[in-house]
Amino acid sequence: MKYKNINSSGKKSIALVAHDNKKQDLVAWCQTYQNHLSTHQLYATGTTGQLLAEKVKLSITKLISGPLGGDQQIGALITESKIDMLIFIWDPLEAQPHDPDVKALLRLAAVWNIPVACNLASAEFLINSSLFHLSYARKVPDYEKYLSERT
Ligand code: PGA
Repeated sequence: MKYKNINSSGKKSIALVAHDNKKQDLVAWCQTYQNHLSTHQLYATGTTGQLLAEKVKLSITKLISGPLGGDQQIGALITESKIDMLIFIWDPLEAQPHDPDVKALLRLAAVWNIPVACNLASAEFLINSSLFHLSYARKVPDYEKYLSERT
């Protein structure tokens, strides 16, 4: 696979997801960093987004609930370069009915080289990074180049 760089602007598109036992943690994190987050474009899976809309004054695009396909919706947005960062506070101590979707989302985040926070500590590091509000060039698969070299 060939690679190319694409730029994300200072205004990031950020996907927010938390499993049920982790939702309160994500709400508290969003409340703490409301000012940081408010300048970015936010997406969330359905139930996470609903809870955040109730508890934090942030404008959020709500997708369908994770177990009903929301994780896959975020994955699809990642492949279209419409998501720059994933904050996914997943629960390592409880089985999830949509575990294949969770794995698929994490895999696509790796394929498309977006920063992922899997727990509160990594979310803290990301949001306090100097790159959080700056444009950033990341290396992604160059599918057009790949196709052109096959013909
Ligand atoms: P939810 O989905 O926000 O709809 O609960 C989260 C998840 O992917 O499990």
